[in-house]
Amino acid sequence: MTALLQVSDLHKSFGGVHALAGVSFALARGELVALIGPNGAGKSTCFNVINGQLAADRGRVLFEGRDLAGHGPREIWRRGVGRTFQMAATYASMTVAENVQVALLSRERQLTRWWVRAAEQHRDEALELLDQVGLRERADAPCSTLAYGDLKTLEVAVALSSRPSLLLMDEPTAGMAPGERNALMALTRALVRERGIGVLFTEHSMDVVFACADRIVVMARGELIADGLPEAIRDDARVRDVYFGSAPVGGLR
Ligand code: ADP
Ligand code: MG
Repeated sequence: MTALLQVSDLHKSFGGVHALAGVSFALARGELVALIGPNGAGKSTCFNVINGQLAADRGRVLFEGRDLAGHGPREIWRRGVGRTFQMAATYASMTVAENVQVALLSRERQLTRWWVRAAEQHRDEALELLDQVGLRERADAPCSTLAYGDLKTLEVAVALSSRPSLLLMDEPTAGMAPGERNALMALTRALVRERGIGVLFTEHSMDVVFACADRIVVMARGELIADGLPEAIRDDARVRDVYFGSAPVGGLR
C-alpha cells in the first residue's frame, strides 16, 4: 500500500549548517508519529520542507504517492496537508465558533454562499467539529476569554477544518502545563483513529511522546538516528547516547 507520506533522502543546509542531512521516513494513514530530537536537530526544517515553506536541496517528499516538489504551501495545503498555526491575535475578538467557520470558509472559497452572512455559514459544521474537540460549550465565547489550553485545542479544530489527510503539528503543546499536554495529544490520537488521518508532531515532553505516539522518529544534528515503536526507542542505545545522554529514555523528564 502507498504510504500517506514518504520522505526520502532530504537534505537542507543553511550556510554551513546541515539542518537535514539525508532524512528518510514514512507515515501511514491512521498513524500518530512523534518526530523528536534535541533543539537544532532539524525537526522544524523537516516540517517546513514537507509543507512547502522551504525547498529541499535534495531528496523527495511523496504525499499519497505524488511528488510535492515545486509546489508552494497553498497548493500543498489544498492537496490535504494541514498544519497547526498559533492563533493570530487578530482573531481574538471573534468567537470560538466564528474562528472555525472562517477556516471552513477558506477551505471552500469557490463554494462560498456569498448571499449568506459569514457569521451564519458553516455554523452547524463548526459546532460539530467543536463538539469533537470538546469545545462545544465555549462556541459563543470570544477567543480572548479562552484558557490557554482551550486556545491550543481550538488551533487543532481550525487545522482540521480543511479536512487534511495529513496533519503536521510542530510543538502543538508549547507553553502548556504537563497535564494539558497529555490531554491535547490524547485528543489528537482519538481524532487520528476516528478520521483515519496521519499526524506528525513534535513534543518536548517524553511522557507525552511515549504515552501517545504510535511510532517515534528520532533526529539528531540533521540525521535520522532511529525510527520505531516506543518500546524499541526507549531501549535504543544510539537514542540514549545521542539524545538523552546515558539516562534511560523513560526516566527522562
Ligand atoms: P529543531 O526544530 O529540531 O529545533 P531546526 O530545524 O529549527 O531544529 O534547526 C536545525 C538547524 O538549522 C539549527 O542549527 C538551526 O539553527 C538551523 N536553521 C534552521 N532554520 C534556519 C534558517 N532559516 N536560517 C539559518 N539557519 C537555520
Ligand atoms: Mg523546532
